[in-house]
This record gives sequence, structure tokens and C-alpha cells, in this order.
Amino acid sequence: MEYIGKLYGRIGNKHFDTGYTAKEWDELTKQVETLKKQLNKEQKLLVDIVSHCPLCDSDNLHQYKLHHIHCKDCKEDFNKSCG
Ligand SMILES: [Zn+2]
Repeated sequence: MEYIGKLYGRIGNKHFDTGYTAKEWDELTKQVETLKKQLNKEQKLLVDIVSHCPLCDSDNLHQYKLHHIHCKDCKEDFNKSCG
């Protein structure tokens, strides 16, 4: 962003101060991009971790809810995040 100074938003014909300068806004945007990349990496990591059962190495897994995996071979349940 070339503009340096405070940023203002507009609702209808009313203007308001966003509380950010253009420089701060650029930095925030960069931070969001970095966080998104990190998140993508972590999600990929989770998928890698759960492609096989950590106990019996079976790929006969059933995922339920968001973070829970059930292995159909050894009948163990485990949590994605603790692998
Ligand atoms: Zn298993």
C-alpha cells in the first residue's frame, strides 16, 4: 500500500476511523497470510499423522467428529492432535 496514514472506513455516507494506519494494515495483512500458510501446513501434518493407525499401522481408519479416529483393526480410538 503506497498510502501512509490512517485508514478510514465508510458505511453509507458516514466515515469512521479504523484505528489502523496503512502501514499497520499492511503488517496485519502479512501476518494473516503467514498464519494461513502455517495452518495449511499443520492441517497437512494432521492428515499425514492419521493416514495410518499409530498402534497397528493399519489404514483401516474411521474418522468421527472432527479430531477423533477409530481404528477398525485394533479397535482403538485416538485423537488426531496427539497422533
Ligand atoms: Zn490400529
